[in-house]
Amino acid sequence: MGRNFEAIRITRRCELSDPVLEREFFSQDTKKYIRYIKSAVLLMGLVFFMFLIPDFFFVKEDRRFLLILIFRLLFLGLVCLLYWVLGKVRNYEVLAGLFSVYELICAALFLLIFYLYGTPDFVIQALGMMIILLAMCILPNKWINNLIISVIIGVGFLVCSAIFVKNIRYDSFLAVSVYLVLLVALCNLFLYTVNYNKRSLFLKNKKLEELAFRDSMTGLYSKNKFNAEIKLWMSYSKRYNMPLSLAILDLDDFKQINDRYGHLSGDQIIVDASVVMKSAIRASDILARWGGDEFVLLMPHTDLIGARKLVDRLHQKMRNNTFHGMTITCSFGITQMTAEDDEVSIINRADRMLYSAKDSGKDRVVC
Ligand code: GH3
Ligand code: MG
Repeated sequence: MGRNFEAIRITRRCELSDPVLEREFFSQDTKKYIRYIKSAVLLMGLVFFMFLIPDFFFVKEDRRFLLILIFRLLFLGLVCLLYWVLGKVRNYEVLAGLFSVYELICAALFLLIFYLYGTPDFVIQALGMMIILLAMCILPNKWINNLIISVIIGVGFLVCSAIFVKNIRYDSFLAVSVYLVLLVALCNLFLYTVNYNKRSLFLKNKKLEELAFRDSMTGLYSKNKFNAEIKLWMSYSKRYNMPLSLAILDLDDFKQINDRYGHLSGDQIIVDASVVMKSAIRASDILARWGGDEFVLLMPHTDLIGARKLVDRLHQKMRNNTFHGMTITCSFGITQMTAEDDEVSIINRADRMLYSAKDSGKDRVVC
Protein backbone atom coordinates (compact mmCIF):
# COMPACT_ATOMS: atom_id res chain seq x y z
CA MET A 1 0.00 0.00 0.00
CA GLY A 2 1.08 3.61 -0.39
CA ARG A 3 3.27 5.44 2.08
CA ASN A 4 1.81 8.11 4.29
CA PHE A 5 3.91 11.13 3.36
CA GLU A 6 1.56 13.43 5.31
CA ALA A 7 3.04 12.15 8.59
CA ILE A 8 6.64 13.01 7.57
CA ARG A 9 7.99 16.28 8.98
CA ILE A 10 11.24 18.23 8.80
CA THR A 11 12.86 17.96 12.22
CA ARG A 12 14.72 20.65 14.18
CA ARG A 13 17.97 19.12 12.87
CA CYS A 14 16.64 20.02 9.41
CA GLU A 15 16.27 16.37 8.39
CA LEU A 16 13.24 14.39 7.26
CA SER A 17 11.65 12.57 10.20
CA ASP A 18 11.71 9.29 8.22
CA PRO A 19 15.38 8.12 8.18
CA VAL A 20 14.93 6.02 5.01
CA LEU A 21 13.47 8.97 3.14
CA GLU A 22 16.18 11.27 4.53
CA ARG A 23 18.85 8.91 3.14
CA GLU A 24 17.02 8.82 -0.20
CA PHE A 25 16.87 12.63 -0.28
CA PHE A 26 20.54 13.10 0.62
CA SER A 27 21.71 10.53 -1.94
CA GLN A 28 19.51 11.97 -4.67
CA ASP A 29 20.53 15.57 -3.93
CA THR A 30 24.26 14.79 -3.79
CA LYS A 31 24.11 12.64 -6.93
CA LYS A 32 22.38 15.46 -8.84
CA TYR A 33 25.18 17.94 -8.07
CA ILE A 34 28.13 15.53 -7.97
CA ARG A 35 29.95 17.13 -10.93
CA TYR A 36 29.66 20.58 -9.40
CA ILE A 37 30.71 19.23 -5.98
CA LYS A 38 33.81 17.58 -7.48
CA SER A 39 34.86 20.88 -9.06
CA ALA A 40 34.16 22.80 -5.83
CA VAL A 41 36.27 20.33 -3.81
CA LEU A 42 39.19 20.65 -6.24
CA LEU A 43 38.93 24.44 -6.25
CA MET A 44 38.95 24.59 -2.44
CA GLY A 45 42.02 22.34 -2.33
CA LEU A 46 43.83 24.59 -4.82
CA VAL A 47 42.87 27.81 -2.95
CA PHE A 48 44.17 26.30 0.29
CA PHE A 49 47.42 25.45 -1.50
CA MET A 50 47.71 28.90 -3.09
CA PHE A 51 47.92 30.45 0.40
CA LEU A 52 51.55 29.33 0.07
CA ILE A 53 52.20 32.65 -1.73
CA PRO A 54 51.50 34.84 1.36
CA ASP A 55 53.30 32.16 3.46
CA PHE A 56 56.40 32.73 1.31
CA PHE A 57 56.44 36.46 2.15
CA PHE A 58 55.41 36.29 5.83
CA VAL A 59 57.30 33.21 7.11
CA LYS A 60 60.96 34.09 7.39
CA GLU A 61 62.33 30.83 8.76
CA ASP A 62 63.09 28.15 6.09
CA ARG A 63 62.29 25.19 8.37
CA ARG A 64 58.85 26.58 9.24
CA PHE A 65 58.14 27.40 5.58
CA LEU A 66 59.08 23.83 4.62
CA LEU A 67 56.69 22.41 7.24
CA ILE A 68 53.89 24.67 5.96
CA LEU A 69 54.65 23.53 2.39
CA ILE A 70 54.35 19.88 3.54
CA PHE A 71 51.02 20.55 5.29
CA ARG A 72 49.60 22.34 2.26
CA LEU A 73 50.80 19.57 -0.08
CA LEU A 74 49.31 16.97 2.28
CA PHE A 75 45.91 18.66 2.12
CA LEU A 76 46.14 18.98 -1.67
CA GLY A 77 46.87 15.23 -1.84
CA LEU A 78 43.87 14.49 0.42
CA VAL A 79 41.67 16.68 -1.78
CA CYS A 80 42.80 14.80 -4.91
CA LEU A 81 41.95 11.55 -3.10
CA LEU A 82 38.49 12.91 -2.25
CA TYR A 83 38.04 13.97 -5.90
CA TRP A 84 38.85 10.41 -6.97
CA VAL A 85 36.51 8.92 -4.32
CA LEU A 86 33.68 11.21 -5.48
CA GLY A 87 34.03 9.76 -8.98
CA LYS A 88 33.85 6.17 -7.69
CA VAL A 89 31.35 6.37 -4.82
CA ARG A 90 27.88 4.90 -5.33
CA ASN A 91 26.66 5.17 -1.75
CA TYR A 92 26.21 8.92 -1.41
CA GLU A 93 25.08 8.73 2.25
CA VAL A 94 28.68 8.26 3.38
CA LEU A 95 29.64 11.63 1.89
CA ALA A 96 28.13 13.70 4.76
CA GLY A 97 30.56 12.05 7.19
CA LEU A 98 33.45 12.29 4.74
CA PHE A 99 32.92 16.01 4.07
CA SER A 100 32.77 16.66 7.84
CA VAL A 101 36.13 14.90 8.31
CA TYR A 102 37.69 16.97 5.49
CA GLU A 103 36.35 20.22 6.91
CA LEU A 104 37.84 19.39 10.32
CA ILE A 105 41.22 18.43 8.75
CA CYS A 106 41.26 21.68 6.77
CA ALA A 107 40.53 23.74 9.90
CA ALA A 108 43.12 21.81 11.96
CA LEU A 109 45.81 22.38 9.29
CA PHE A 110 44.86 26.05 9.13
CA LEU A 111 45.37 26.38 12.91
CA LEU A 112 48.65 24.45 12.72
CA ILE A 113 49.97 26.76 10.00
CA PHE A 114 48.68 29.73 12.01
CA TYR A 115 50.85 28.49 14.90
CA LEU A 116 53.86 28.04 12.57
CA TYR A 117 53.65 31.68 11.50
CA GLY A 118 55.25 32.54 14.85
CA THR A 119 54.06 36.14 14.93
CA PRO A 120 50.80 35.96 12.96
CA ASP A 121 48.65 38.97 12.19
CA PHE A 122 45.51 38.11 14.14
CA VAL A 123 43.06 40.06 11.94
CA ILE A 124 44.44 38.66 8.64
CA GLN A 125 44.29 35.12 10.04
CA ALA A 126 40.70 35.79 11.16
CA LEU A 127 39.84 36.73 7.55
CA GLY A 128 41.35 33.42 6.35
CA MET A 129 39.27 31.56 8.94
CA MET A 130 36.14 33.33 7.71
CA ILE A 131 36.90 32.24 4.12
CA ILE A 132 37.11 28.61 5.30
CA LEU A 133 33.75 28.97 7.11
CA LEU A 134 32.18 30.44 3.97
CA ALA A 135 33.68 27.73 1.74
CA MET A 136 32.10 25.08 3.99
CA CYS A 137 28.68 26.27 2.83
CA ILE A 138 29.44 24.97 -0.69
CA LEU A 139 29.76 21.30 0.33
CA PRO A 140 26.43 19.47 0.62
CA ASN A 141 26.80 18.50 4.24
CA LYS A 142 23.94 17.89 6.67
CA TRP A 143 22.93 21.17 8.31
CA ILE A 144 23.51 19.90 11.85
CA ASN A 145 27.03 18.68 10.94
CA ASN A 146 27.81 22.06 9.43
CA LEU A 147 26.55 23.89 12.53
CA ILE A 148 28.60 21.77 14.95
CA ILE A 149 31.77 21.91 12.82
CA SER A 150 31.57 25.67 12.23
CA VAL A 151 31.12 26.29 15.98
CA ILE A 152 34.10 24.01 16.77
CA ILE A 153 36.26 25.78 14.17
CA GLY A 154 35.23 29.30 15.30
CA VAL A 155 35.79 28.59 19.00
CA GLY A 156 39.01 26.67 18.21
CA PHE A 157 40.37 29.67 16.30
CA LEU A 158 39.59 32.12 19.11
CA VAL A 159 41.10 29.85 21.78
CA CYS A 160 44.27 29.23 19.70
CA SER A 161 44.58 32.97 19.03
CA ALA A 162 44.30 33.76 22.73
CA ILE A 163 47.07 31.23 23.44
CA PHE A 164 49.48 31.73 20.48
CA VAL A 165 49.20 35.38 19.47
CA LYS A 166 51.33 37.60 21.66
CA ASN A 167 50.15 41.07 22.67
CA ILE A 168 46.76 40.54 21.13
CA ARG A 169 44.67 43.71 21.19
CA TYR A 170 41.61 43.32 23.36
CA ASP A 171 39.34 45.41 21.09
CA SER A 172 40.46 43.48 17.93
CA PHE A 173 39.83 40.18 19.68
CA LEU A 174 36.37 41.30 20.74
CA ALA A 175 35.49 42.64 17.26
CA VAL A 176 36.73 39.44 15.51
CA SER A 177 34.76 37.32 18.03
CA VAL A 178 31.56 39.25 17.27
CA TYR A 179 32.12 39.01 13.47
CA LEU A 180 32.84 35.27 13.72
CA VAL A 181 29.66 34.66 15.73
CA LEU A 182 27.66 36.69 13.19
CA LEU A 183 29.24 34.86 10.25
CA VAL A 184 28.59 31.40 11.74
CA ALA A 185 25.00 32.39 12.62
CA LEU A 186 24.26 33.87 9.18
CA CYS A 187 25.88 30.99 7.25
CA ASN A 188 23.91 28.45 9.25
CA LEU A 189 20.68 30.40 8.93
CA PHE A 190 21.23 30.50 5.16
CA LEU A 191 22.04 26.76 5.07
CA TYR A 192 19.00 25.99 7.22
CA THR A 193 16.72 27.82 4.77
CA VAL A 194 18.29 26.07 1.74
CA ASN A 195 18.16 22.62 3.39
CA TYR A 196 14.61 23.13 4.65
CA ASN A 197 13.32 24.29 1.26
CA LYS A 198 15.06 21.46 -0.61
CA ARG A 199 13.52 18.84 1.70
CA SER A 200 10.13 20.50 1.57
CA LEU A 201 10.23 20.39 -2.26
CA PHE A 202 11.38 16.76 -2.18
CA LEU A 203 8.43 15.84 0.08
CA LYS A 204 5.98 17.68 -2.18
CA ASN A 205 7.36 15.81 -5.22
CA LYS A 206 7.01 12.51 -3.35
CA LYS A 207 3.38 13.33 -2.58
CA LEU A 208 2.73 14.19 -6.24
CA GLU A 209 4.44 10.96 -7.34
CA GLU A 210 2.22 9.08 -4.92
CA LEU A 211 -0.86 10.69 -6.47
CA ALA A 212 0.28 9.83 -9.99
CA PHE A 213 1.51 6.32 -9.21
CA ARG A 214 -1.11 5.07 -6.76
CA ASP A 215 -4.74 4.25 -7.23
CA SER A 216 -6.42 6.46 -4.63
CA MET A 217 -9.14 3.95 -3.75
CA THR A 218 -7.09 0.78 -3.17
CA GLY A 219 -3.59 2.18 -2.60
CA LEU A 220 -2.29 -0.25 -5.25
CA TYR A 221 -0.09 0.95 -8.11
CA SER A 222 -1.95 2.88 -10.82
CA LYS A 223 -2.03 2.05 -14.53
CA ASN A 224 0.65 4.74 -15.14
CA LYS A 225 3.05 3.16 -12.68
CA PHE A 226 2.33 -0.33 -14.01
CA ASN A 227 3.13 0.79 -17.56
CA ALA A 228 6.47 2.15 -16.35
CA GLU A 229 7.23 -1.03 -14.36
CA ILE A 230 6.36 -3.48 -17.15
CA LYS A 231 8.64 -1.59 -19.57
CA LEU A 232 11.49 -1.76 -17.09
CA TRP A 233 11.00 -5.43 -16.18
CA MET A 234 10.62 -6.52 -19.81
CA SER A 235 13.90 -4.96 -20.83
CA TYR A 236 15.65 -6.32 -17.71
CA SER A 237 14.23 -9.84 -18.23
CA LYS A 238 15.19 -9.88 -21.92
CA ARG A 239 18.69 -8.63 -21.18
CA TYR A 240 19.38 -11.20 -18.45
CA ASN A 241 17.28 -13.95 -20.04
CA MET A 242 14.94 -14.16 -17.06
CA PRO A 243 11.32 -15.39 -17.23
CA LEU A 244 8.57 -12.83 -16.70
CA SER A 245 4.86 -13.60 -16.38
CA LEU A 246 1.76 -11.46 -16.43
CA ALA A 247 -1.73 -12.15 -15.09
CA ILE A 248 -4.89 -10.11 -15.57
CA LEU A 249 -7.83 -10.72 -13.28
CA ASP A 250 -11.35 -9.41 -13.39
CA LEU A 251 -14.06 -9.79 -10.75
CA ASP A 252 -17.01 -11.78 -12.05
CA ASP A 253 -20.45 -10.18 -12.41
CA PHE A 254 -19.50 -7.05 -10.55
CA LYS A 255 -22.26 -5.02 -12.19
CA GLN A 256 -24.79 -7.23 -10.41
CA ILE A 257 -23.08 -6.64 -7.05
CA ASN A 258 -23.30 -2.89 -7.63
CA ASP A 259 -26.95 -3.18 -8.64
CA ARG A 260 -27.85 -5.28 -5.64
CA TYR A 261 -25.79 -3.64 -2.87
CA GLY A 262 -25.10 -0.17 -4.18
CA HIS A 263 -21.98 1.54 -5.51
CA LEU A 264 -20.51 2.32 -2.09
CA SER A 265 -20.56 -1.34 -1.02
CA GLY A 266 -19.13 -2.16 -4.45
CA ASP A 267 -16.25 0.26 -3.76
CA GLN A 268 -15.58 -1.34 -0.38
CA ILE A 269 -15.53 -4.81 -1.96
CA ILE A 270 -12.93 -3.62 -4.51
CA VAL A 271 -10.79 -2.31 -1.62
CA ASP A 272 -11.19 -5.54 0.39
CA ALA A 273 -10.43 -7.65 -2.69
CA SER A 274 -7.21 -5.69 -3.26
CA VAL A 275 -6.14 -6.41 0.36
CA VAL A 276 -6.73 -10.16 -0.20
CA MET A 277 -4.76 -10.06 -3.47
CA LYS A 278 -1.89 -8.18 -1.82
CA SER A 279 -1.72 -10.77 0.96
CA ALA A 280 -1.52 -13.67 -1.55
CA ILE A 281 1.39 -12.39 -3.67
CA ARG A 282 5.12 -12.02 -3.01
CA ALA A 283 6.84 -8.73 -2.16
CA SER A 284 8.63 -8.82 -5.53
CA ASP A 285 5.38 -9.09 -7.53
CA ILE A 286 3.85 -5.94 -8.93
CA LEU A 287 0.11 -5.60 -8.49
CA ALA A 288 -1.84 -2.70 -9.99
CA ARG A 289 -5.44 -1.66 -10.50
CA TRP A 290 -5.91 -1.59 -14.25
CA GLY A 291 -9.30 0.10 -13.95
CA GLY A 292 -12.80 -0.74 -12.68
CA ASP A 293 -12.85 -4.29 -11.35
CA GLU A 294 -9.78 -5.33 -13.33
CA PHE A 295 -6.28 -5.87 -11.85
CA VAL A 296 -2.88 -6.75 -13.34
CA LEU A 297 -0.10 -8.74 -11.71
CA LEU A 298 3.46 -8.75 -13.02
CA MET A 299 5.63 -11.61 -11.76
CA PRO A 300 9.38 -11.04 -12.31
CA HIS A 301 11.69 -14.11 -12.36
CA THR A 302 8.61 -16.36 -12.76
CA ASP A 303 7.80 -18.77 -15.59
CA LEU A 304 4.32 -19.91 -16.60
CA ILE A 305 4.35 -22.89 -14.20
CA GLY A 306 5.31 -20.70 -11.23
CA ALA A 307 2.80 -18.04 -12.26
CA ARG A 308 0.04 -20.65 -12.52
CA LYS A 309 0.81 -21.88 -8.98
CA LEU A 310 0.73 -18.35 -7.57
CA VAL A 311 -2.47 -17.43 -9.41
CA ASP A 312 -4.20 -20.68 -8.35
CA ARG A 313 -3.36 -19.80 -4.74
CA LEU A 314 -4.73 -16.29 -5.23
CA HIS A 315 -7.85 -17.68 -6.94
CA GLN A 316 -8.48 -20.01 -4.00
CA LYS A 317 -7.94 -17.23 -1.48
CA MET A 318 -10.46 -14.97 -3.23
CA ARG A 319 -13.00 -17.80 -3.37
CA ASN A 320 -12.61 -18.68 0.32
CA ASN A 321 -12.96 -15.08 1.46
CA THR A 322 -16.28 -13.44 2.23
CA PHE A 323 -16.79 -9.81 1.28
CA HIS A 324 -19.64 -8.16 3.23
CA GLY A 325 -20.99 -11.63 3.93
CA MET A 326 -20.93 -12.79 0.31
CA THR A 327 -18.45 -14.64 -1.82
CA ILE A 328 -17.14 -13.27 -5.07
CA THR A 329 -15.32 -15.09 -7.82
CA CYS A 330 -12.87 -13.86 -10.41
CA SER A 331 -11.39 -14.94 -13.72
CA PHE A 332 -7.73 -14.89 -14.67
CA GLY A 333 -5.68 -14.79 -17.86
CA ILE A 334 -1.96 -15.63 -17.57
CA THR A 335 0.89 -15.49 -20.06
CA GLN A 336 4.68 -15.61 -20.08
CA MET A 337 6.82 -13.09 -21.96
CA THR A 338 8.41 -14.25 -25.22
CA ALA A 339 11.49 -12.76 -26.90
CA GLU A 340 9.30 -11.03 -29.51
CA ASP A 341 6.93 -9.43 -27.00
CA ASP A 342 6.51 -5.74 -26.31
CA GLU A 343 4.30 -4.20 -23.58
CA VAL A 344 1.26 -4.13 -25.85
CA SER A 345 1.51 -7.68 -27.21
CA ILE A 346 2.00 -9.32 -23.79
CA ILE A 347 -0.95 -7.41 -22.26
CA ASN A 348 -3.16 -8.22 -25.29
CA ARG A 349 -2.33 -11.92 -24.99
CA ALA A 350 -3.14 -12.01 -21.25
CA ASP A 351 -6.35 -10.13 -22.03
CA ARG A 352 -7.32 -12.76 -24.63
CA MET A 353 -6.76 -15.48 -22.00
CA LEU A 354 -9.00 -13.54 -19.61
CA TYR A 355 -11.76 -13.29 -22.24
CA SER A 356 -11.42 -16.99 -22.86
CA ALA A 357 -11.84 -17.61 -19.07
CA LYS A 358 -14.95 -15.40 -19.08
CA ASP A 359 -16.34 -17.09 -22.21
CA SER A 360 -15.87 -20.58 -20.83
CA GLY A 361 -17.96 -19.91 -17.72
CA LYS A 362 -15.92 -17.48 -15.46
CA ASP A 363 -14.35 -18.32 -12.05
CA ARG A 364 -11.33 -19.95 -13.68
CA VAL A 365 -7.70 -19.50 -14.76
CA VAL A 366 -6.62 -19.71 -18.42
CA CYS A 367 -2.95 -19.82 -19.43
P1 GH3 B 1 -17.78 -9.87 -15.98
O1 GH3 B 1 -18.01 -11.08 -15.16
O2 GH3 B 1 -17.89 -10.20 -17.45
O3 GH3 B 1 -16.53 -9.19 -15.67
O4 GH3 B 1 -18.96 -8.89 -15.67
P2 GH3 B 1 -18.96 -7.56 -14.82
O5 GH3 B 1 -20.33 -7.32 -14.35
O6 GH3 B 1 -17.91 -7.60 -13.79
O7 GH3 B 1 -18.61 -6.48 -15.90
P3 GH3 B 1 -17.28 -5.74 -16.27
O8 GH3 B 1 -16.11 -6.38 -15.62
O9 GH3 B 1 -17.23 -5.64 -17.78
O10 GH3 B 1 -17.46 -4.29 -15.72
C1 GH3 B 1 -17.06 -3.92 -14.44
C2 GH3 B 1 -18.14 -3.22 -13.70
O11 GH3 B 1 -17.63 -2.85 -12.44
C3 GH3 B 1 -18.59 -1.93 -14.36
C4 GH3 B 1 -18.99 -1.05 -13.21
O12 GH3 B 1 -20.36 -1.13 -12.94
C5 GH3 B 1 -18.25 -1.63 -12.05
N1 GH3 B 1 -17.20 -0.75 -11.55
C6 GH3 B 1 -16.12 -0.32 -12.21
N2 GH3 B 1 -15.38 0.47 -11.43
C7 GH3 B 1 -16.00 0.53 -10.23
C8 GH3 B 1 -15.74 1.21 -9.01
O13 GH3 B 1 -14.73 1.92 -8.83
N3 GH3 B 1 -16.60 1.03 -7.99
C9 GH3 B 1 -17.72 0.26 -8.11
N4 GH3 B 1 -18.53 0.15 -7.10
N5 GH3 B 1 -17.99 -0.36 -9.27
C10 GH3 B 1 -17.16 -0.24 -10.32
MG1 MG C 1 -15.88 -7.85 -14.07
